[in-house]
Amino acid sequence: MRVTYLDNNATTRVSDEVIEEMTPYLGELYGNPSSMHTFGGQLHRKIEEARGRVAELINAEPDEIIFTSCGTESDNTAIMSALESYPQKRQIVTTRVEHPAVLNFCKTMEQKDYSTKLLPVDRLGKLNIDELRETITNNTAVVSVMYANNETGVIFPVPEIAEITKFRGSVFHTDAVQAAGKLPIDIKKMPIDMLSISGHKLHAPKGVGALYIRRGTRFSPYIIGGHQEHGRRAGTENVASIIGLGKACELAGKNMHEENTRIKALRDRLEQGLLKSCPDARLNGDSENRLPNTLNISFEYVEGEAILLRLNEDNICASSGSACTSGSLEPSHVLRAMGIPFTAIHGSVRFSLSRYTADDEISLVLKRMPEIIKELRTLSPYGRKAAGTL
Ligand code: PLP
Repeated sequence: MRVTYLDNNATTRVSDEVIEEMTPYLGELYGNPSSMHTFGGQLHRKIEEARGRVAELINAEPDEIIFTSCGTESDNTAIMSALESYPQKRQIVTTRVEHPAVLNFCKTMEQKDYSTKLLPVDRLGKLNIDELRETITNNTAVVSVMYANNETGVIFPVPEIAEITKFRGSVFHTDAVQAAGKLPIDIKKMPIDMLSISGHKLHAPKGVGALYIRRGTRFSPYIIGGHQEHGRRAGTENVASIIGLGKACELAGKNMHEENTRIKALRDRLEQGLLKSCPDARLNGDSENRLPNTLNISFEYVEGEAILLRLNEDNICASSGSACTSGSLEPSHVLRAMGIPFTAIHGSVRFSLSRYTADDEISLVLKRMPEIIKELRTLSPYGRKAAGTL
């Protein structure tokens, strides 16, 4: 049965062009780019080409990009580097809705005598900028605020946050794992010091990422060993995946506007259709300032996991903000931070689209969801009680 894949914020399909570009480097061209001989050394040129392509996606300079193993490593590296570069400053400022790659790293740093200030968000998932301004002090080493949220797609005003942070004299890092390749980013127009990218969110393979480090930013490497990446990230390069990431960034930059227009139209059709056909459904997060591919909806009186299991029977992939399916035992910390009631969090489902999402996939979900919701509400005593039939 064909897979209907609407879980692109979890991971994306590697595009055919990316696979084609990578293939020789998984096979006959297996040298080590650090070698003196031509067989290995020629790969160095390909890595630099990929670096240029990643840089171009965000209008950076190639020497401002280092390759990492994933978005998590990029996030950890950025925050750690800021802390080590300014050892007299002991505070991290971030938000309640960051990915665990940031939140859990900050928690770990608390055991090393750092403090973390977690900024709240409102019901729409938006930050209070005045509160952010007041929170940053002389003791703040780094402010880390994501570009766009992975669960709701809500976009933070990063240019403004970066300006405020720099004015206050702290390092600014943004986790752009969900934004890169989906939103136009011009790093020259905002004082971001570091920015994280992950390959598998933009049709490159898993296990490769990048970190932008603005020229002149104090930097302390996280992974220490050989001289690779000019000593900023040791370890023999994941050559094929780096080449794949470069190609994926090139493709994302080239077609972003047309793709976004098409993806947003599909997402909006799905959103409007579901809100109309499923009673007691509501959108989570700001409807305007949002990634064009993301839709997070709560269906009251049903369990998100039960919805996912039913969708799974039709080979439809989505994800939920409630327990277990997301690999965690806790309901979504993002929706909780937004003050969404527990009943609505438990019935939340995230659909996330990509350039490969087809019209008929949306049609299938629009057909199945009202049936599934109705059926689950009839089955569950909780749903029957809410509907007044119990
Ligand atoms: N940051 C955000 C916002 C994410 O959505 C993710 C992955 O879901 C990560 C960081 C972690 O990226 P990776 O899976 O490449 O480590």
